Amino acid sequence: MKFIDFNFDSRLQEGIEASNYENATPIQEQVIPHILADKDVIAFAQTGTGKTAAFLLPLINQMLTRGTDPHGINCLVIVPTRELAVQIAQHLEGLSYFTSVSSIAVYGGGDGNSFVQEKKALSMGADFVICTPGKMMAHIKMGYVKMDSLQYLVLDEADRMLDMGFYDDIMFIIDHLPKKRQNLLFSATMPPKIKTMANRILHQPVEISIAMSKPPEKIVQQAYMVYDEQKIPLIQHMLQEKQYRSVLIFCSSKLSVKQLTRDLQKKGIKAGEIHSDLEQDNREEILIQYKSGRLPVLVATDILSRGIDIDNIDLVINFDVPHDGEDYVHRIGRTARAAAEGSAYTLVSVKDQRKFHTIEKLIGKDVTKIIIPEHLGEQPAYTPAAGRNFGGGGSGAGGKKKYFNNNRGSRHK
Ligand code: AMP
Repeated sequence: MKFIDFNFDSRLQEGIEASNYENATPIQEQVIPHILADKDVIAFAQTGTGKTAAFLLPLINQMLTRGTDPHGINCLVIVPTRELAVQIAQHLEGLSYFTSVSSIAVYGGGDGNSFVQEKKALSMGADFVICTPGKMMAHIKMGYVKMDSLQYLVLDEADRMLDMGFYDDIMFIIDHLPKKRQNLLFSATMPPKIKTMANRILHQPVEISIAMSKPPEKIVQQAYMVYDEQKIPLIQHMLQEKQYRSVLIFCSSKLSVKQLTRDLQKKGIKAGEIHSDLEQDNREEILIQYKSGRLPVLVATDILSRGIDIDNIDLVINFDVPHDGEDYVHRIGRTARAAAEGSAYTLVSVKDQRKFHTIEKLIGKDVTKIIIPEHLGEQPAYTPAAGRNFGGGGSGAGGKKKYFNNNRGSRHK
């Protein structure tokens, strides 16, 4: 599902596009509509599934479309650690870049200066407060925290918070919130104590459970940083360097499937193509040839990445970076099926580095980067953060001032 289909506020959609998100991840697809429909939600999802944006996006959208109390705290996000608080605040900053939404991260271990900033925000109001339980409880006890207009409560990594002994602190904080509010609870695991906690806090929650598919460990995953013109010579080198029985090359468009197949054939490589422009009969014929070993190289669109059962593929090459982590997992999952071993190489052009980095985060693994053969020349360095896209004059600051500037993930525009 594409983000555009959620019909988010245009300022939020701008932030989504600047973050290079195009398709919603499964957890986002399932959770976002319920949050937009004001339901309480309990979601079981691990880090890497896109769970943070699954709650940030609809909450930002609600704030933009319904408005917020500028003098109160509108959403409280309680998390187990300062690292996670900072990470969520930064994520929020990226997604809400073109909006006027304000936020602050509140966590233990800061200095006197950060305490003053926190006190100011907590007493004067912020759209999002992202906090660790102990520090928030300490602020509440001092009496200046303004919770009257709070509408949304998020408990993130709730299982970890319970493991860390935060139950009483969390319940203390919740006792100081308005009773009428929307509650969202995210947890990687579902032990009985989470259910007990959810029963106390959530109101008739919708329950959602997502497991991020991970590529099998036995697949050797590698990536090459390349300039576009190095891709075909590199593939040629790979195919000549080692005798593969069966190679599957994925391209993101029909056009590049056709071009690449032609280029490989011109270089004397026996390659066939498969994509949706071919008649069913043709596709079947090519698959038969490929499965029988008569055609050693097949170039395909993602039409072949899911559900197709071919057992003996020993190499998958991603000619370009797939659209998202799920596609990546499906593509490389075509190799090393059954007991066989397999390799998956991804060619990453400069413009695709950020996309590839996101996939690495989604699968929870740094893919080994390989140096290209010397005769192909210099390759680009891997600098996925370099192409950040947020600098271009945010327009949407609709009247509300951003005054929290404590370098803790708060907005400073
Ligand atoms: P999380 O599970 O929230 O820790 O997210 C893991 C990573 O996935 C983060 O780096 C996000 O920026 C990224 N991410 C989240 N949603 C999407 C999406 N729809 N498309 C691409 N990347 C995403």
